[in-house]
Amino acid sequence: MTNYTNFRFEVDADGIALATWDMPGRSMNVITGQVMDELSRIIETVASDEAIKGCVITSGKESFSGGADLTMLQASNAEYMRLAKEKGEEAATTFLFEESRKLSLLYRRLETSGKPFAAAVHGVCLGGAFELALACHFRVLSDVDSTRVGLPEVKVGLFPGGGGTQRVARLMQTGDALQMLFKGEQIRPLMARNMGLVHSVAPRDEIVQTAKDWIKQGGSAVAPWDQKGFKLPSNKVYSAAGMQIWPPANAIYRRETQDNYPAIRAILEAVYQGLQLPMDLALRVESRWFAKILRSKEAAAMIRTLFISMQDLNKGARRPKDVPSITIRKVGVVGAGFMGASVAYVTANAGLEVVLIDRDMEAAEKGKAHSHKLMSDQIMKGRAKTADRDALLARITASADYKDLADCDLVIEAVFEDPTVKAEVIQKIEAAIRPDCILASNTSTLPITGLARSSRSADQFIGIHFFSPVEKMMLVEIILGKETGDRALATALDYVRLIKKTPIVVNDSRGFFANRCVLAYILEGHLMFAEGLPAPMIEQAGKQAGMPVGPLSLNDEVGVDLGLKILKATKAQLGEAAIVPQQEELLTRLVEKEGRLGRKNRKGFYDYPEAGQKRLWPGLKDLQTKRVEPEFVDMQELKERLLVTQALEAARTVEEGVITDPREADVGSILGFGFAPYTGGTLSYIDFMGAKSFVELCRKLQAKHGDRFAPPKLLLDMAASGETFYGRAEAKRAA
Ligand code: NAD
Repeated sequence: MTNYTNFRFEVDADGIALATWDMPGRSMNVITGQVMDELSRIIETVASDEAIKGCVITSGKESFSGGADLTMLQASNAEYMRLAKEKGEEAATTFLFEESRKLSLLYRRLETSGKPFAAAVHGVCLGGAFELALACHFRVLSDVDSTRVGLPEVKVGLFPGGGGTQRVARLMQTGDALQMLFKGEQIRPLMARNMGLVHSVAPRDEIVQTAKDWIKQGGSAVAPWDQKGFKLPSNKVYSAAGMQIWPPANAIYRRETQDNYPAIRAILEAVYQGLQLPMDLALRVESRWFAKILRSKEAAAMIRTLFISMQDLNKGARRPKDVPSITIRKVGVVGAGFMGASVAYVTANAGLEVVLIDRDMEAAEKGKAHSHKLMSDQIMKGRAKTADRDALLARITASADYKDLADCDLVIEAVFEDPTVKAEVIQKIEAAIRPDCILASNTSTLPITGLARSSRSADQFIGIHFFSPVEKMMLVEIILGKETGDRALATALDYVRLIKKTPIVVNDSRGFFANRCVLAYILEGHLMFAEGLPAPMIEQAGKQAGMPVGPLSLNDEVGVDLGLKILKATKAQLGEAAIVPQQEELLTRLVEKEGRLGRKNRKGFYDYPEAGQKRLWPGLKDLQTKRVEPEFVDMQELKERLLVTQALEAARTVEEGVITDPREADVGSILGFGFAPYTGGTLSYIDFMGAKSFVELCRKLQAKHGDRFAPPKLLLDMAASGETFYGRAEAKRAA
């Protein structure tokens, strides 16, 4: 009938149109300018052709769609900047408002076209794509477990600007709607139906028919909110019910975001204002907020790091181009302890064969039992079947015999953190493996170059550093020893890709990247404590700065004793000057005198009662010889200290050549240790502030708190030249 590039459009004998979204040359549908144009033509065709009764929109791919092309948004932001420079702020703002409103107007046109539209959704349907479904008058989801709907825009510093805030807030209780919009979670089919987000759930091959039947049976072309007498699910904003909702909503917003996320604040505003207006005006208000948020530095930073850079890294930005793709079928894991057992699980979970080795069969079996437990938990939650567990366990061979490693493509050792033990294990592994097998270590502190010396071929030796808990943490640090070769790097990257984690590649150095920054954060917390600052304020400052937990709490998680162990090792290797005496004193007292090791023995900076929540240990006060009264505490400065110290450490890793690409420091810092995501990561924090301002801030802190805040030469140079980390990297790539 009509020619479309991105849709197949056909009308059946009943006069019901089916628009199958299926973009050529792409594995996933995405909203682009061309898709919007074609969708607009489809809507007009359906609206004007009397023979067409209504239209079902579905996808020809394995998934419905992931939403809008974020690079398209980035482009309109760039155009805004250009216009602002050339024609002034007002012209630029008008442009951005009109531009970002197009999708919302298109969906509204669909909703008010006079013909019923239905969305038949299988697979993921997120962001702008789910907003399309929300604008349809009827939504049916496939009952397949991988089907997910949601509005995850907040995760990249944006919010749903295609009508999502308004439609969701009219479909469910305001409190629930705000929770959903704030969190941006992906929602499973039955949950979505229970929440009132969709009308129906059906087997995959029946969704289109279900949608057609709905139209055939006279489904209404008028959205509930356009019908006469429509009542908001939580009543009017200015009502007794509204009084119960809005004051706490404000408080929840503060608690969840510490006011660090303008996009989430904008959701609150858009819903609050929008619910007091008719739909068309409400959508206009949403668009105003959207255009404003699109210009925020938080959105720019988060889109760059958490979307673009992350995708680049996942797709192998750092992979040596001339090494052909490596076939990895079987992976050996030696050391079936805390880390090894989890590495075996995530590997088997990706469909790979695993040989899990420990000193004896009992230890190896114990490591394998971890996978049994994790899979059983999944079964309990209804996310896996017994057959999945059996299949996964069948892929793991527990063994105490190194010969079983014979046909592995990659072996990862995770034995005790002891160079002698590791050296011995490396030799045993190498006596068993094929000559082309790559050998990796999961060490967190031992230099890879040193370990590689025990290996017969240092070019086939590499670090693959997982973070705990391995099942949850998405980051993997790949560490290059001095002689690590390209094939080893390619193998490590191909493996990380198979297990669906995000890799960063760093050069060998003490603490690699992530742990260096983490230790700086914890150290700052310890020093604040030694200065006499109240522990609750230190913890609060960490959270207000945007960290997932305060520094003392984090220290409890990794182990107070581990902190002391690292400190002692540093002192032994690098001398007295390399450590901070106040920290040594505090940790020695906690560990050696008070027996407080952290969460592991339920006693650290916090007490961890069997029942109930953790709370700061009341005895902490007795460890402080000085005390700063709360009213004299400058919270802003505490927040700055906690972020600046980590950013400085990240800058030093660049100066030392440990980090060679700013994308890796940024992605690594957010995925690895939760560095305040709204900043875009440790280096983006500096870039968005500007090196000059950052250096000034460092100088101020240095004068007051000592030389650990001294800016390195690299930052001084950047401050003088006006360069950014990303600008330098781009120049290097271009050269
Ligand atoms: P762990 O003590 O829980 O496990 C070590 C395992 O290695 C034990 O099961 C032990 O029996 C086994 N083992 C020891 N010697 C062996 C040998 N000669 N042959 C075969 N197996 C042997 O330790 P873990 O916490 O799992 O740490 C393992 C490695 O992972 C260390 O290098 C550590 O630095 C690193 N790492 C740990 C973490 C963490 O959070 N614990 C994080 C990242 C990396």
